[in-house]
Amino acid sequence: MAIELKDWAAYQMKGLEWSAQNVRWLIANTKCQGCLGCCDGTHYPAINLSKRDAMRIPKKERQTMTEAGDGLLIMEAPCRFLIEGRCTIHLSKPGVCVEYPVSYTKESPWIIIIACPAGKDLINACVDLKPGVKATLYQI
Ligand code: SF4
Ligand code: SF4
Repeated sequence: MAIELKDWAAYQMKGLEWSAQNVRWLIANTKCQGCLGCCDGTHYPAINLSKRDAMRIPKKERQTMTEAGDGLLIMEAPCRFLIEGRCTIHLSKPGVCVEYPVSYTKESPWIIIIACPAGKDLINACVDLKPGVKATLYQI
C-alpha cells in the first residue's frame, strides 16, 4: 500500500536506520526525474563536499567554497558546475549528488530521504517493496 503523499509536507516518520545495505537498496531504487532541483537549490540550499569529493574539484574552485569543519566544504546552490542544464563535472561530482535524494550524517542513525520528486517516489517504493519499513521524508 502506497503512502498518500498529497499531504506529504506534514509527513515525517522515522524507522529506516542507516546500514550500507539500506543505503544501497535506496540508491538502486531511486528513479531520478531529472528536474535538476538538487543542483539549482530548489530542493536543497547547498551542496556538501567531503574531503574525497574536494580532491576531485579543481583547486581554484575549492578555494572559493566555505569550510565547515571536518574537511567538509559547502558550495551554495545553484551549483556553479550546473551549466545550461548539465552537470559539467559529471564523472567527478560529489558523493552527495550521486546519492541524492538519499542522505545521512554521522550524527544520526536514520537515513533521510529528501522530498524531491524522486524522493517522494522512493518513500512509496519503501512501503511497497519493503513492508514494515518506515522512512524519514525530509522537506526543506
Ligand atoms: S534527484 Fe530529485 S531533485 Fe535531483 S534531479 Fe532527480 S528528481 Fe530532481
Ligand atoms: S556537482 Fe553536478 S550533480 Fe552536483 S549539484 Fe553540481 S551540477 Fe548538480
